[in-house]
Amino acid sequence: MSDIKNHPLLSISRETHQTKQRRWVSTVATAITSLFLITLVCHSSFSTFPLLSTNVSLKTCEQPSATAPETRADLTQNYNKIFNQPGPFHDAFRKAAAERLSEAIQINTVSYDFLRNKTPLPDGVPEPSREGILKFHDFLESRFPKTHATLQREVINRYPLLYTWKGSDQSLEPILFMSHIDTVPVPNATLDQWSHPPFSGHIDEQYVWGRGSVDTKSTLLAILEAVELLVTLDFQPKRTVYLAFGSDEEISGHQGAKFLAQTLLSRGLKNRIAFLIDEGPGLSTSPSLTLAEIGTQEKGYTDVRISISTPGGHSSIPPDHTSIGVLAEIISAIENNQYTSELGDENPLLESLRCRAVWDEGMDRWLRRAVLDIGRWRRKVVNRLSGDLWMRYMMQTSQAVDLIEGGVKGWFLFGMYLRHNITE
Ligand SMILES: [Zn+2]
Repeated sequence: MSDIKNHPLLSISRETHQTKQRRWVSTVATAITSLFLITLVCHSSFSTFPLLSTNVSLKTCEQPSATAPETRADLTQNYNKIFNQPGPFHDAFRKAAAERLSEAIQINTVSYDFLRNKTPLPDGVPEPSREGILKFHDFLESRFPKTHATLQREVINRYPLLYTWKGSDQSLEPILFMSHIDTVPVPNATLDQWSHPPFSGHIDEQYVWGRGSVDTKSTLLAILEAVELLVTLDFQPKRTVYLAFGSDEEISGHQGAKFLAQTLLSRGLKNRIAFLIDEGPGLSTSPSLTLAEIGTQEKGYTDVRISISTPGGHSSIPPDHTSIGVLAEIISAIENNQYTSELGDENPLLESLRCRAVWDEGMDRWLRRAVLDIGRWRRKVVNRLSGDLWMRYMMQTSQAVDLIEGGVKGWFLFGMYLRHNITE
């Protein structure tokens, strides 16, 4: 979901979204770890949770101690059975969770660009290009029966889903877990490059394979796995818990997240959500540290279309530069004039690097010292990190010529799309 910054639902000022990653293989462990985090969040005292601790110094990256439910020791025991105690329960849960993720991947919920501003047809009227979303609704209902028997489920604007798990204490601000049902398409030209077909949901020793296994059916199912387990254990939240699952995040959420947000706002939740968690960058590991990073930014973007018309003619007596030649020069000029990399104090990447510098003994020694003294070493740090494309574009507005068309027959009308992904 884009543009989460200054989200009107949030009562905290820090934005909580992520820079997107497009990968196509996921470990079950990622989903399970998310599940653990969600489970903890659901039943923990919030006083030590970092998102809510306004006095946590990011300069030193203090880590709060782990919290455990004070009144429900059985939740901790069950958590340990699932995650820390290999045995029948542990094995059965992991296997079943992987199978459910596999099933989810097998349902094609691709969002296509032409659906971006297409209002859903009324209920009951077939819409073949979105029927996978309705199948996904049915799948969730059949695989998470206790959740559906306990939480209120609403279908908003035909496709997005909103679940409400009413808390026992209405004076507490609710929390919101978000995900999205849809995925990006799979270009036919790339089909033979997949280790396993993109909608196979193939399970091997380590991975569940397919489109959506990372982005982001894994987190959607992790949320529901956690809720289903908690309902099974007769857990009753104090805070109201909302689950909001968009249906068209990959095409900007105009028919999905927008309606979910409007619904929540219409219920008086402006500035009343204690925190929300959406898809994130996952775990990053080094020999000395495993870091579960909370995504706090997402790039915005703008599409620019450049069209050129030139007089027609014949290639036996061509002008020196055809429209194709002129556009080629424009493209070269754009590519030769990149934005610069900046690592300002407000860039969450800097906070992340500082945190790593404090905790990761395996981090490059020079970088570790430099990011902790950034005022002195800023430019050198930027230069050093810019060698890595992933890092560079955490610090730099990117631009890419994505689409090009023209040269069909006549010499006129040749156009291209230029996408600017904007880092702020
Ligand atoms: Zn996503």
